[in-house]
Amino acid sequence: MTFTYRARTAGLFAMLLCSIGAQAQTKPEETEVWRPEPTRVTPATATHAPSDAVVLFDGANLNEWVSTAVPDKPATWTVANGVFTVRPGSGNIQTRRQFGDYQLHLEWRIPPDIKGTGQDRGNSGLFLASTGAGDRGYELQILDCVNNKTYVNGQAASIYKQSIPLVNACAGAGEWQTYDVIWTAPRFANDGSLASPAYVTALHNGVLVQNHVALRGETVYVGKPSYTKHGRAPIKLQDHGHLVSFRNAWVRELETAN
Ligand code: MG
Repeated sequence: MTFTYRARTAGLFAMLLCSIGAQAQTKPEETEVWRPEPTRVTPATATHAPSDAVVLFDGANLNEWVSTAVPDKPATWTVANGVFTVRPGSGNIQTRRQFGDYQLHLEWRIPPDIKGTGQDRGNSGLFLASTGAGDRGYELQILDCVNNKTYVNGQAASIYKQSIPLVNACAGAGEWQTYDVIWTAPRFANDGSLASPAYVTALHNGVLVQNHVALRGETVYVGKPSYTKHGRAPIKLQDHGHLVSFRNAWVRELETAN
């Protein structure tokens, strides 16, 4: 009897405390978080990177870029008038640094006098992670897409042969265009199996074109995509033989990188 009485009393007391607690949590201060404070970052402007970004091209040189074929050799694409341009036949170039998860900004331009059709018209590519030589990696397509028919999973802003862009936000040849990308790198288990796929969110000229898309593997020209275990990786640009130009490139690595 004594136990039951005590238990009941304890139960009532606990309910009273809960009631008081619930009332206390109705104060707005109870749900305010003050620390840690987000790091102060000076935002990007039309011509400058945010203060915490790695600038991949400052208008003067390609010091942050190397040849993909021979990574200890500098990139040899053309630098002039504050922009850099594919040197057809010289091969892909990639960043000297390697990255995990990141936010990236890149501006690109198809030459105004572009000729050709389909995939042979202003073709380059932004490889969000370069996993090896040539076109190994995950390509966000760069291509003229104004009055230029091609397969839609290979048009500009597609994840090449994996994900059609939500809309066609292309500007015309000769105009500067922007890519803003949030890249979440894939994760792999120790045995090489995929633990979590890569995710891409991308805006083309400020318009959402890829919304947290899970990739099925590396982008490939022939066959089906698949994953091969890798870690941090360079960002790569494609020499597809066309005089595509670039400027104002920067990347902010995100803390979730493994
Ligand atoms: Mg391409």
